[in-house]
Amino acid sequence: MSLIQIEKVKKVFSETETPVTALDNISISIDKGSFISFIGPSGSGKTTLLNIIGALDKPSAGRIIFNNIELSTLNRVAAADFRAEHIGFIFQNFNLLPVLTVYENVEYPLLMTRNTSASERRHLVENVLDAVGMKTQMGKFPNQISGGQKQRVAIARALITNPELVLADEPTANLDHESAFKVIQLMHEMRSKFGTTFVFSTHDPKIVKEVDILHKLEDGKLIGTDNQGGVAA
Ligand code: ADP
Ligand code: MG
Repeated sequence: MSLIQIEKVKKVFSETETPVTALDNISISIDKGSFISFIGPSGSGKTTLLNIIGALDKPSAGRIIFNNIELSTLNRVAAADFRAEHIGFIFQNFNLLPVLTVYENVEYPLLMTRNTSASERRHLVENVLDAVGMKTQMGKFPNQISGGQKQRVAIARALITNPELVLADEPTANLDHESAFKVIQLMHEMRSKFGTTFVFSTHDPKIVKEVDILHKLEDGKLIGTDNQGGVAA
């Protein structure tokens, strides 16, 4: 079943001296519960595409239908509400808040979006930290854990609101190969455990072995799709 339909999406940045076509006629359907990667060199349009899928930006032409909602019809406030309810984000530089502990970083989205009791929050946070293997580290601050561990915490934070989709823009770009591989493996496990759809971007062909579908981008164009035979959760 399709969660997101990307239909003939084009993005032109025209504020610059010469307009840049960052996305050129992209059409893709993303199934619920699938594990998808966009791969391409720097400048190929990965971030632009993830931003549009994540309702952070709008296409110049074409449509994104997410759960039967056309994202470009949402105004800023509605888009923010939509993101808070449906999407978890993971970033290349982790984006953990340095003054909050691991526990508090993961709790934070619940405080922003839901009316949950302290005991409910404790249960949810401990459960997801346990799932990513970071429960024993929950009192530490981000500067006391490794890069790979930070990304585990960021995965827990993305999952805490039980979103339908997790979007991760080059989540492994700041990690050594072994940590990068483990982060992708963890996302794969979380997809199976929670049924969450995961979409991540990378420029590294070594880490995309486990994905179901690999979309290749170059100069804003979709130049190929490998169906690697994964089965949606
Ligand atoms: P990637 O994430 O694959 O490195 P991006 O999506 O960031 O690629 O960029 C795709 C193209 O769009 C690049 O040529 C980039 O310079 C351009 N671009 C991205 N964002 C902007 C912007 N805000 N203004 C102008 N050009 C942009
Ligand atoms: Mg990018």
